[in-house]
Amino acid sequence: MNIAIIGTGYVGLVSGTCFAEMGNQVTCVDIDEDKVDMLRSGKLPIYEPDLEHYFARNRKEERLSFTTDYEDAVLDAEVIFLALPTPPGEDGSADLSYVLQAAGTIADLLVEQDDPGYRIIVNKSTVPVGTADRVSETMADRGLTTGEHYDVVSNPEFLREGAAVDDFMKPDRVVIGTSSEKAANKMTRLYEPFVRQGNPILVVDERSAEMIKYTANSILATRISFMNEIANLCERVGADVDKVRLGISKDHRIGRHFLYAGIGFGGSCFPKDVQALHRTGRQHGYDFQILDSVLSVNDQQRELMVHRLDEYFDGDLEGKKIAMWGLAFKPNTDDVREAPSHVIIEGLLERGAEVTAFDPEAIETTKVNFGDSISYAEDMYAPLENADALVICTEWHEFRRPDLARVHDTLGTPVVFDGRNLYDPSRMAEMGFEYFSIGRPHVA
Ligand code: NAD
Repeated sequence: MNIAIIGTGYVGLVSGTCFAEMGNQVTCVDIDEDKVDMLRSGKLPIYEPDLEHYFARNRKEERLSFTTDYEDAVLDAEVIFLALPTPPGEDGSADLSYVLQAAGTIADLLVEQDDPGYRIIVNKSTVPVGTADRVSETMADRGLTTGEHYDVVSNPEFLREGAAVDDFMKPDRVVIGTSSEKAANKMTRLYEPFVRQGNPILVVDERSAEMIKYTANSILATRISFMNEIANLCERVGADVDKVRLGISKDHRIGRHFLYAGIGFGGSCFPKDVQALHRTGRQHGYDFQILDSVLSVNDQQRELMVHRLDEYFDGDLEGKKIAMWGLAFKPNTDDVREAPSHVIIEGLLERGAEVTAFDPEAIETTKVNFGDSISYAEDMYAPLENADALVICTEWHEFRRPDLARVHDTLGTPVVFDGRNLYDPSRMAEMGFEYFSIGRPHVA
């Protein structure tokens, strides 16, 4: 199939590359000229495991190309994916301007043709209930006819950054939201190669598809905030949240995923999607109370480390040297959008501390926010030199089993604030560390 992907970010680039890998002809459009130049020269603008390999192969075989010109991509495309940003607007609702503007541009191009043909316009972005209708209206306003010239499909994406290629190639399920049988059949054919192991392709109505994506992200965010509250209580009653987690996760009704206590969730999706669903509730006269709490618990949790450090240093962080391991909002990505590490850095800088950070992939993306107001290290042991404390923000594999004797001896003072519960508190105490983690007893 000929496919156009509008927006070449984490979702667009991964989807486009994976569709090309299955033999489709894919043209990706982005308005960011630097990004398109980079992609055309064979370089990836993001870090994502396994992407490079598929990207290189499909470029070489000329199934994957990049342009800034909608016309190059849209006119030959049978299916057009919108993988555009939907950031929170001022009131927390999803800003649909990118999506609607792109739909308008596509419609303008199509109406200029003698025969506009038939294409499927797919909302791949995470968009609130009713957006498929709004995209359809945008097309109809230009004189195009639904069912004849176009159908709009809601096809939410569930890939996780850090495992995006694997998730896209082997999705747990594919959701296709459409009331058009013609569009449903074509979309099913497109996705069949990805579900050969038997995972389902669910065809539902547009509104249910839109709700599925927000419900999935909100329930995952709720689990994280819930476990963070359990952790806070564990600390007060002398229990260990990791033991509690193990005890509940064997219950098949609960399962084992998304039960890790820590310093809160970040990323470009959970905070914005929970907020947007809450806002959808408001717009429909419903106060979605749990979501309010999920967000406020998360804000509190992302500040927790700063308060702990402040308390440890008796309210005087001025001039303290803080080493930080991990900047990305989670491992295996360079993405720092809404990262807890950034909230912590801001709190530390406000209090006059000096921060030196190491992350295997997210230093360049962090520089965009903090420039030279913090220092960056090229290896994980360098920031520890003479530091007054180490703060761990991301559970990259290499932080799980470091040379702890070296960490101890390199730090100016052997104090570790671990936001990801990577080490055994008793062992850390035996080694002579002052060790603080989340929801576990402090062993001195
Ligand atoms: P992103 O910010 O990484 O990428 C968006 C891209 O769109 C950018 O390259 C930008 O330059 C481009 N763009 C902006 N306006 C444009 C226009 N008018 N025409 C062409 N290109 C334009 O975003 P993302 O993380 O890929 O997310 C895209 C959507 O997918 C969002 O709605 C997000 O919520 C959703 N989503 C994201 C993830 C994720 O893990 N990142 C997962 C599932 C769903």
